[in-house]
Amino acid sequence: MLREFDLDVRTKEVPSGTTCFDWEIPQEWRIRDAYIADESGQRIVDYKMSNLHVCNGSVPVDSLMTFDELMPFLHASDHELDHPYRTVFFRDTWGFCISRQQLQALQQHNRLRVRIDSEYSDGSLTYGEAMLPGDSQDTVLMWTHICHPSLANDNVSGIATAACVYHQLAEQKSRRLSYRFVFAPATIGAIAWLSQNQNQLDAVYFALVLTLLGDESGFNFKLTRSGDHFIDRCLRLVENHDKRVEGIAEFDPSGYDERQFSSPGIDLPAARITRSTPEQFPEYHTSGDNRGVISENRILESASLVYCLLKMAEDNCLPVNTSPYCEPRLGPRGLFHAYGSGPSAAADLHTSILWTLNLADGAHDALAISERSGLPFDRIVEAIDRLQQHGLIRKERAPF
Ligand code: ZN
Repeated sequence: MLREFDLDVRTKEVPSGTTCFDWEIPQEWRIRDAYIADESGQRIVDYKMSNLHVCNGSVPVDSLMTFDELMPFLHASDHELDHPYRTVFFRDTWGFCISRQQLQALQQHNRLRVRIDSEYSDGSLTYGEAMLPGDSQDTVLMWTHICHPSLANDNVSGIATAACVYHQLAEQKSRRLSYRFVFAPATIGAIAWLSQNQNQLDAVYFALVLTLLGDESGFNFKLTRSGDHFIDRCLRLVENHDKRVEGIAEFDPSGYDERQFSSPGIDLPAARITRSTPEQFPEYHTSGDNRGVISENRILESASLVYCLLKMAEDNCLPVNTSPYCEPRLGPRGLFHAYGSGPSAAADLHTSILWTLNLADGAHDALAISERSGLPFDRIVEAIDRLQQHGLIRKERAPF
């Protein structure tokens, strides 16, 4: 589907049985049908109504059971109609996910027909990659998981956001950095990708894990393990200036695939961008995480925020003041009259110009000037460009 949206996605297959660090790629799981039916054959829980009704990875079963025998295999929700999403991969078991209403219905019956028509066979783990090369080999890794069937916010919204950002970057005439978009199953997919690409990890400048980006909440950021990488500083700046940002959290070793990137042997700076966090999202890992909780507008807004962050990495530079002996005369250059007085954006730009000239001592990049001045990053970039046009600033490449 991503190819239909003009993403140049190439798929890679990692065969079952391949060793990936401490893990092994499992066999592929296929399911054709599953249900719990009453004595008359009436289905009370039906995989065909929702594929989330079966614990993903369930081994086959075909049995007549009492309710009490079945009970240990039921994962019931507190919610009247929604049911949970569960996986049992890497365990030789099975289960059903049901709503409270379905639990009550099952309790009415003494004998229940339980069937899961599934199988495991040798196959492969599949992930997709889309590359956007830039002037530098330094690469931003854009990461989304693709393994949760039928979940909208905790899956599809991340994929859709990444696809939008891909298009925005692809439209740029030039890019300073290279971008590598990966669409992979969570956990085992990240472990597989990292083990298959170990020799390319040095090129990764930072990674962004994208998920939960379609709901109505404000944005929540999770910083990298070190907490002081370039991308952490960008996230803090955006939080300072953008009211849509709700919270910013230090790294912890739970959550999404940032866990794998941040393991001590890998140690890639990986930040996470969500709207709701999993803890704040009531529909997290339930059938309630459906199209009703996400919207196109929110996904587009998420893509635009992610793109702004990437632009900070693209536009960051080291400005050097070419006239550093006292203040240069701004008036004759039209810089004072144009921006020198009055409230408004013009005054703001004037302040940005003063800060930029002052801190363009070769020790402050645009990001550091924005941090020190408290002015938004794009205002500083604008000031640098104006001053460069007048020969007062020489732009050098910001060190990575
Ligand atoms: Zn999830």
